[in-house]
Amino acid sequence: MQRDLEDLPPLREVVAAHGIAARKSLGQNFLFDLNLARRIARAAAPQDAATIVEIGPGPGGLTRALLAEGARKVIAIERDPRCLAALEDIARACPNRLEIIAGDALAIDLGALVGSARPARICANLPYNVATALLTAWIETPAWPPWFDRLVLMFQKEVAERIVATPRQRAAYGRLAVLCNWRCETRILFEISPAAFTPPPKVTSALVELQPRPNPLPCDVARLAAVTQAAFGQRRKMLRQSLKALLGGDPTARLAAAGIAPTARAEEIDVAGFVRLARALADYMAAPAASSPAPSMSSRS
Ligand code: SAM
Repeated sequence: MQRDLEDLPPLREVVAAHGIAARKSLGQNFLFDLNLARRIARAAAPQDAATIVEIGPGPGGLTRALLAEGARKVIAIERDPRCLAALEDIARACPNRLEIIAGDALAIDLGALVGSARPARICANLPYNVATALLTAWIETPAWPPWFDRLVLMFQKEVAERIVATPRQRAAYGRLAVLCNWRCETRILFEISPAAFTPPPKVTSALVELQPRPNPLPCDVARLAAVTQAAFGQRRKMLRQSLKALLGGDPTARLAAAGIAPTARAEEIDVAGFVRLARALADYMAAPAASSPAPSMSSRS
């Protein structure tokens, strides 16, 4: 490890010195094991001279690991002001390589923050209470390919399984899997036991990699979000029922035209099928008002 990083005190001492008692409301479960942090950091391949955006650095365990593994720059966004002094100590040990942003990652335009510093990727031990909201916002970003070239993110294992699920895994397969796998290749890298964290969460965690596809099947992200929301919102119902409001009246013909059996349920439809449904929705909305008017997207999503 770089000499100055090695000289920083152990994380347990940092947390005690700065009074950073973990808060559940901020999803705080800290990683004190620097070897594990470095394993996570290596999955983001920071040595590619990449700019890494880290959400929720906390006292800075993963931040130190990313810098030690060769990140050109880490941009760390932390909501808890109690962590900032500890992060500033790391920034002093690595001049010009750590930028600390105090704020709520949900409210920050990360692409604008990164600017022209590409390639950029996100690596984080996410606060679990906002993890899916953050991921969904990144995946639904209008511009694609996006500003990041890889996401390496820690989730609770159950959420990780929902991200990588296929129609064969019916319980886990849902809106999140369709959106993520439409635009990214996804895989679980490894699991991490609750004992690795302080305090230990109740659940096992898993590190997930999402690699943006350069050319996902063409379709409008808002339409795809709308059809998946309607279909999985009533996942036990047949699509001719669950998509009634969205596709207008009796959607049987539109479903058939999209190559989808009207009696199928959401959990049986693969990503390509949902893309066809999103296109059917686009056609319906573009069509001049027939028997029933097409409601606006904003009233549906
Ligand atoms: N990266 C550290 C580690 O691995 O030990 C801490 C991870 S902890 C699971 C999540 C971190 O996210 C906490 O430091 C918490 O304060 C921060 N956080 C929670 N909500 C946030 C938000 N909306 N924006 C930015 N940071 C947030």
